[in-house]
Amino acid sequence: MANPHGLPFPPLTANQKDAALAWFHSKAGQHPKCHLCKAGSFTVADYLSVPPVSSGQGASFGPMAYPQYMIICDDCGNTLFIDTRTTGLIAGL
Ligand SMILES: [Zn+2]
Repeated sequence: MANPHGLPFPPLTANQKDAALAWFHSKAGQHPKCHLCKAGSFTVADYLSVPPVSSGQGASFGPMAYPQYMIICDDCGNTLFIDTRTTGLIAGL
């Protein structure tokens, strides 16, 4: 199922978002603070982010894409981008 923006990644399920947040806490601690505003509440965005990849002949979203979780500070919107392949939380990416 494609998301509304045409990328081939469906919205994250509640379980996937919970797993991403648990992974974040396993790395950043149980009470991480935003490095901009020092608030301590974060939300995992509904969709993955996929930045364009430069191949030397332009940028594309092709097979070398790096899907990333967006973990957003609930206070200031500062956003962390975490590579889904590194976390291993979503099979097949
Ligand atoms: Zn913040």
